Amino acid sequence: MSELLANYWGGRWQTGSGAGTSLFDPVLGTELVRIDATGLDLAEGFDFAREQGGTALRKLTYRERGALLGAIVKVLQANREAYYAISMANSGTVNNDTAVDVDGGIFTLGTYAKLGETLGERRYLLDGELARLGKDPLFQSQHILVPTRGVALFINAFNFPSWGLWEKAGPALISGVPVIIKPASATAWLTQRMVKDVIEAGILPPGALSILCGSSQGLMDQLQPFDVVSFTGSAATAAVIRSHPAVTQSSVRVNIEADSINSAVLLDDSSAENAALDLLIKEVTREMTVKSGQKCTAIRRIFVPDALYERTAATLSARLAKITVGNPRNETVRMGSVVSKEQWQAVQAGLAQLKTQAELLFDGSKQPLVDADPSSCCIAPSLLGARAADAAPLIHDTEVFGPVATLLAYRDTAHVQALVRRGQGSLVTSLYGTDPEALAAMAAELADSHGRVHIITPEVAAIQTGHGNVMPQSLHGGPGRAGGGEELGGIRALNFYHRRSAVQASTNVLKHL
Ligand code: NAP
Repeated sequence: MSELLANYWGGRWQTGSGAGTSLFDPVLGTELVRIDATGLDLAEGFDFAREQGGTALRKLTYRERGALLGAIVKVLQANREAYYAISMANSGTVNNDTAVDVDGGIFTLGTYAKLGETLGERRYLLDGELARLGKDPLFQSQHILVPTRGVALFINAFNFPSWGLWEKAGPALISGVPVIIKPASATAWLTQRMVKDVIEAGILPPGALSILCGSSQGLMDQLQPFDVVSFTGSAATAAVIRSHPAVTQSSVRVNIEADSINSAVLLDDSSAENAALDLLIKEVTREMTVKSGQKCTAIRRIFVPDALYERTAATLSARLAKITVGNPRNETVRMGSVVSKEQWQAVQAGLAQLKTQAELLFDGSKQPLVDADPSSCCIAPSLLGARAADAAPLIHDTEVFGPVATLLAYRDTAHVQALVRRGQGSLVTSLYGTDPEALAAMAAELADSHGRVHIITPEVAAIQTGHGNVMPQSLHGGPGRAGGGEELGGIRALNFYHRRSAVQASTNVLKHL
């Protein structure tokens, strides 16, 4: 039997009393470790985090909490090799893809460590300026932001076991709010190992960070009015979270990051179409293949002017044919596997569904796998196409969480804007062109339905941060079907973990805030 991973719960390591759920290597099929949370006293763990962790964190200043994050960064950096090994084994990722998760998480945490430094020796934040409430300037109002006196429960998705934890924990801990992480079962090992390293380093006060690996059953029932819950995962589970009485009756604050039918748009700019098209091809290839397309921000729909449909199809297919897929331990392999047999089946089912409304432009199933059995969870990229984009509703509505995207043709600017919006709210769209004015106008037009608009022009080709890369300085989240959430965006991320209150008093009182 494989090792049963322990949960850090109520300030001590505890293993579940059940047989556990096995985690597997998606390429080799071998069992790796087991997770289980059966029998854990959920109420005790939440109380411990709320009382011990919350009280200790709130005693510290932003600068002191920033220093804690800085110390965590050092521990994670020191153990990077172990994280890469776990990721390769449990997520089937090549090292370049592991970097997005592991190094992306550490970088994001480091960014919030520095932010804590800039916020200084305060324990709460001022929000805006003094506002006069009447004719006499003596009586005024000052808004303040204070850390919420509860826990932050994170329920995370399988595709980012590292980044998914740290991009949320950075803003929460800097705000003085204790964290309980429930990672997705399939890839919980990496999250558990990182938390273990941090706990064993003795950096955080007891109760500031807890982890529960196993069933989510009963977790939402523990939430109290000042707790917050941040969920990342499918729209179906998001609906369950949103309709829980903790949210509907106790007003527990909730942030949802759900699925998203992101897009890439080549602007109709005939003067320089070649340069912009090349940039689009490069970015789409990267987005389809990084982490085998298992990124919430990955490009799912590619819009090009009708006249460029065939050329784009041919060039993109030729690029995809060069991607080597298989065992991530083989150094010639560029793309590993999806995380599990369930995901492999979900991708096949999604692809079959999309094929009912699109043609197959590049068939990944014909590609040979390197060093991997056909029964492994490896899938080569497939490109679909629907020239009549209006007549393919499934393409605008179905997220296939794997290396799959669809090429679509458009007539004019108004047409492509309407088509992009059929995603009903997305995390990100990327625009490709050379006319700054047209690009800015398109960005402003599409901003209403996107958390982020990423513009790639020849002048930034070598320095742009990537369509799918979530940078801590920029907002992450999207309206509508993307979940309506907001994460990161620099200091904006702290809002979720603070309560805003207006203090109305004499200016002589307010100057002491
Ligand atoms: P999922 O099946 O919805 O699971 C997400 C998390 O919810 C897991 O930790 C899961 O635990 C837990 N869960 C399942 N049922 C629950 C319930 N009834 N109550 C409370 N928690 C419950 O999603 P997934 O398959 O892991 O993730 C893939 C999806 O996430 C994709 O659609 C992707 O687009 C989306 N995603 C979005 C973002 C973003 O930032 N917007 C980022 C990454 C992924 P178990 O694993 O134990 O079932």
